[in-house]
Amino acid sequence: MEQTFPDAVPQFDLRDHCRAIRSELLAAFGEVLDAGQFILGPNVSAFEEEMAAYLGVAHTVAVNSGTDALILALRGLGVGAGDEVVTSAFTFVSPAEAASLLGARPVFVDIEADGFNLDPGRLEAALSPRTRAIVVVHLFGQAADLEPVLEMARLHGIAVVEDACQAIGADYRGRKVAAWGSAGCLSFFPTKNLGALGDGGLLSTSDPALASRVRALRVHGSGPKYHHRMTGYNSRLDELQAAVLRVKLKHLEGWIARRIEIAKGYDERLRAAGLTEWLILPAHRTYGRHVFHQYALRVLSGVRDALREHLAKKGIGTAVYYPVPLHLQEVYRGLGYRLGDLPRAERAAAEVLCLPMFPELRPEQQDRVVEEIAGFFKTRREGSRHSGSCYLQQPREARGQSALPRGPLGA
Ligand SMILES: *Cc1c(COP(=O)(O)O)cnc(C)c1O
Repeated sequence: MEQTFPDAVPQFDLRDHCRAIRSELLAAFGEVLDAGQFILGPNVSAFEEEMAAYLGVAHTVAVNSGTDALILALRGLGVGAGDEVVTSAFTFVSPAEAASLLGARPVFVDIEADGFNLDPGRLEAALSPRTRAIVVVHLFGQAADLEPVLEMARLHGIAVVEDACQAIGADYRGRKVAAWGSAGCLSFFPTKNLGALGDGGLLSTSDPALASRVRALRVHGSGPKYHHRMTGYNSRLDELQAAVLRVKLKHLEGWIARRIEIAKGYDERLRAAGLTEWLILPAHRTYGRHVFHQYALRVLSGVRDALREHLAKKGIGTAVYYPVPLHLQEVYRGLGYRLGDLPRAERAAAEVLCLPMFPELRPEQQDRVVEEIAGFFKTRREGSRHSGSCYLQQPREARGQSALPRGPLGA
């Protein structure tokens, strides 16, 4: 029987988010209705300019989704049949899917021991004479370590595309992500840190030739209209979505500040409750601002799914991003990867748990989340003591994992 909780805490909730800016959004809708232009109108152009300024890049092209931004970026950089595209094994499917759709082969790299992003130290072994591009993903809102990736790519003459779909506003050594590579890709999927009321995406680049190719690709390879230079796509950001995103962009920094505050609140509460014996808190890198698209924990001792179920019963929503690493996905069976090939990504898939995270999350809701997590470990501890059973696996220290960082690096 489904229980309902008056004090349920969802993993995300867009209703309060929209309510707070409802009148601004309705005014923007009204302007678009009155202007009567719905495809590639003044809001799309203005949004592209505002995003170029925000990211600190020369060119941006608004497209239909983050996935399309990746496809158009790779296409615009010349990726095609027979090429290889290297990316992280632990992410959403889009970078690999984009490569596959262009006839290229995705090649997966394992992640860092103490984080969720691609390990630059494992990159070189994944390169081959066919490697045409590296897609570096800034997962959960934390920049990947870009400098060694860019250096490796430069040495081998390979393009770097940044998948910044989860990381708008994150920076790396003082410059925004999506402004470092040959191209950056953003998503405005509704739950992203800057979300449309539907699908949307954007490509950023400092290369005018790439920007011009991608501009043509998003309108059927044409320019001028009805003169087709290449086989393209229909991949435009709607004028209505651009108007929504222009309203929301003004609030983005405030929302990011809230996410950072919430993450700090989780760090403090989880530590104070003594839960770092069971949980590894998100690493905070000193090289750049984490914008906490997700607050992603690792749950040790194989109890992630049991904890998740316990929290669900208490009305607390969590998410597992991502339960299956890309090299083990059914769609990539033909690539010849096996279980054990990329052990860190596999382990992350088994341990990761994302707690409720959205700017409107209240401190008392965070208290509840942490109390229920503490309650879960308390009962398991007592259960094992009283029954003498060993269903409770050993906590981290007993498994000799104390070398893993506890929470923020250096803490
Ligand atoms: C959301 C996301 C995408 C895809 O964006 P869409 O706009 O949904 O196509 C790609 N990569 C990552 C890491 C994402 O989180």
